[in-house]
Amino acid sequence: MMIRSSLENTGYAGKKNQLADSWRDGAGQIRLAKSTISNLFRYTGRGAAARSLSLGAFNEVIALDAERRTLDVEGLATFETIVNHCLPQGFLPLVVPELKHITVGGATVGIGIESTCFRHGFVHDGLLEADVLLPGGRIVTCSADNEHSDLFHALPNSYGTLGYILRAKIALAEALPYVHLRVSRFDDARSYLGAMRAATDAADIDFVEGLFFEDRRFYLMLGRFSREVPQVDDVLRKNIFYKLVQARSDIFLRTPDYIFRYDPEWFWNIPESPFHTIFRRYAPRQFRNSSFYTKYSARKKQFVEAIVGARDTGIEPLIQDWEVPWQNAEALVDFCLENVSLDGLPWAALPIRSPRQPTLYPIEAGELYFNLGCYCQVRRPEGKAPYHYTRIMDRECFDLGGIKMLYSSTFLDETQFNARFNGPAYRVLKDKYDPDGKAPTLYSKVAHTA
Ligand SMILES: Cc1cc2nc3c(=O)[nH]c(=O)nc-3n(C[C@H](O)[C@H](O)[C@H](O)COP(=O)(O)OP(=O)(O)OC[C@H]3O[C@@H](n4cnc5c(N)ncnc54)[C@H](O)[C@@H]3O)c2cc1C
Repeated sequence: MMIRSSLENTGYAGKKNQLADSWRDGAGQIRLAKSTISNLFRYTGRGAAARSLSLGAFNEVIALDAERRTLDVEGLATFETIVNHCLPQGFLPLVVPELKHITVGGATVGIGIESTCFRHGFVHDGLLEADVLLPGGRIVTCSADNEHSDLFHALPNSYGTLGYILRAKIALAEALPYVHLRVSRFDDARSYLGAMRAATDAADIDFVEGLFFEDRRFYLMLGRFSREVPQVDDVLRKNIFYKLVQARSDIFLRTPDYIFRYDPEWFWNIPESPFHTIFRRYAPRQFRNSSFYTKYSARKKQFVEAIVGARDTGIEPLIQDWEVPWQNAEALVDFCLENVSLDGLPWAALPIRSPRQPTLYPIEAGELYFNLGCYCQVRRPEGKAPYHYTRIMDRECFDLGGIKMLYSSTFLDETQFNARFNGPAYRVLKDKYDPDGKAPTLYSKVAHTA
């Protein structure tokens, strides 16, 4: 059953009223339906939900307040829409994820990150207030200090299981039209991490991130906003961003191209083949993005499975982010380089310091964390169980006092999961905001069940 297949485009207040007026309780759990792609990457499907809730119409910017540096925006607006609206006025959200079609609601409940995280924390740290549609149909406004502050602090890492964000008020920062990246190469993890750590204290640096490879080449990219640049590099057709980093010590990009630098290749998931080289060069602009590529790979997989059957080729996703306290960064880097093969593709690294501790994502407020990301398909080592690399990386991350993001799958059992992600507090919140269990639980959404 589909709840509200379409909401008329009557502005935010109109859409919200229509949603409230048309709400009908029904049997079974709800699931979000939207008009843009999902950026979840769970290793197992979840089957059909009883009731599909269409909120795709909540996808617009409401208002930018330049004086207060805030943006009111509907929960399913993509960051592409937000950047297009804010940047011409000289602003950007504090943290903007690197894929264009990630939404503000999805990144808030799903722990969004970027190269500004060393200064501003996660995407959710920029949230000031939200209207949330509770799973039972009631709409509440929550902020850090109102009667629903418990919900506000529990939105990060809740993945829609406590309700859907219909409207968010988020903080903005000033932004300029270009970004100058200075790239430095290191040959050992210790000096690389030392330089990355030092950069987080430099007041004049706007972006800090890194890429590194299994032959122990480590690249640190330090970015600054700029009003003017001597040239503008092309990362849509001519260059692939992660390759350009290995070739140049100075890169100059338009700010949107920098923000979405990994979008045209969906990180590094577009294969290196003559067909794809031509595709990169000549495909219409609307096909050169992660959204198209996500849909294309899903269809290709279906097609191949229909022709040859679903057989285990040993190729599997390793699409995941892990965070460990900074003092354990070198140990995590050594572990991944010694134990995981990415066949020449890069690992991504970021420093993150968050000003507050969300209820369901227990990291220490004010502590520097090292974020390690991997976004590609890997060949499982001979004789190993499915998702071998994910399992060993998860274990190492937890042993080093870290935490992992849940947009991909977890292999923890429910007891271990509740111990790591504050299960007791979640239970209390779930009973309060979803007493009839109209939305699935967090564990049932993220656990690998095959
Ligand atoms: C390959 C890959 C690369 C990624 N790269 C980045 C990156 O560069 N930076 C980054 O920050 N993140 C990244 N992510 C993680 C991504 O931000 C999260 O998966 C995020 O939750 C996706 O949000 P979405 O808007 O695409 O929503 P969806 O994928 O559609 O939904 C994600 C979850 O959030 C829930 N949800 C969606 N909208 C709302 C809402 N309005 N209110 C409440 N719940 C909602 C859904 O029910 C679902 O459980 C990446 C993920 C993948 C798979």
